[in-house]
Amino acid sequence: MVLLAVHGGAGGDGPWRGMTDADPQRLACMRALLNNLGTRLANGTIDAVEAVTLAVEAMEDEPLFNAGRGSVLDAEGRISMDASVMRGTDKAAGAVIGVERTRHPVRIATHLLHQGWPVMLAGSAADDFGESKGVEKASTDWLTTDLRQAQWQKWRDAKLKPGATDEEDALLDHDGEREGWGTVGAVALDANGQLAAATSTGGMTGKPVGRVGDTPIIGAGTWADDRIAVSCTGVGEAFIRTVAAHGLAVNHRTMPLRTAAQKVLDEVKPFGGRGGLIAVTQDGQAVLPFQTMLMYRGLYRNDGTVSVGIGPEMMP
Ligand code: ASP
Repeated sequence: MVLLAVHGGAGGDGPWRGMTDADPQRLACMRALLNNLGTRLANGTIDAVEAVTLAVEAMEDEPLFNAGRGSVLDAEGRISMDASVMRGTDKAAGAVIGVERTRHPVRIATHLLHQGWPVMLAGSAADDFGESKGVEKASTDWLTTDLRQAQWQKWRDAKLKPGATDEEDALLDHDGEREGWGTVGAVALDANGQLAAATSTGGMTGKPVGRVGDTPIIGAGTWADDRIAVSCTGVGEAFIRTVAAHGLAVNHRTMPLRTAAQKVLDEVKPFGGRGGLIAVTQDGQAVLPFQTMLMYRGLYRNDGTVSVGIGPEMMP
């Protein structure tokens, strides 16, 4: 039994309004990686950690998602990326904060996981560590897309003050422009029954310089143990304050997966944490709930079928 689920961010209020012109490209990215990596998971050529790392790398390369190339810009118009990964069997983990010159931040996190210590590295030390492990570097120019520049300009013009610190400002990206969403994540169950989770993001447009969301925080944005693997997306501060990803693992010990996941999203909501999550379990269940208008998401099942979705319905 193998499973691979991915998300490409959640956002928006109100009823589903249908796909935009850019959405087919996002769906194609998720479909391709699920077919490719799902097959490799099923035939045992990659384990859960490698599957979630490669899945997140594929989405970091897709400029329409907010991770790696195409990350959103902070209050000063710069990219700083966060990522984390965790393995369920031994709770090994790796995380990076504020990476600025690496093509695949999640790959640095995976090197930290395999090395075993330390769990987290921040800033240029994280980029340097990645470089020492042969992780591909990337220039600011390559990482920054015209779309993100335009969104940042719009954000700055609308807000007048640089450096938004309150949640209303941080939310602007998610509520105003659909193209601003797109934190990415993956969870997997491999042929040996191992679980892993990974998440990667550029954060939120106009975030204060140095702001860290839930994505690199083990237990908040990412969690894996011997029963469940979880990756979250949404307003990070709320997921940190409710320790959301780990909260799902705790809930699931005493209640069905779907109920446990809904409880986490209900707990996050009062803190302004609209969003969603994906989770797979050791006994072969998968859930991909969200409380926003949409969540980019996809699932590879053991029988080789792939489904993807943005609004309420999943599609083959
Ligand atoms: N959770 C991410 C953060 O707060 C953003 C997102 O998932 O959209 O940085």
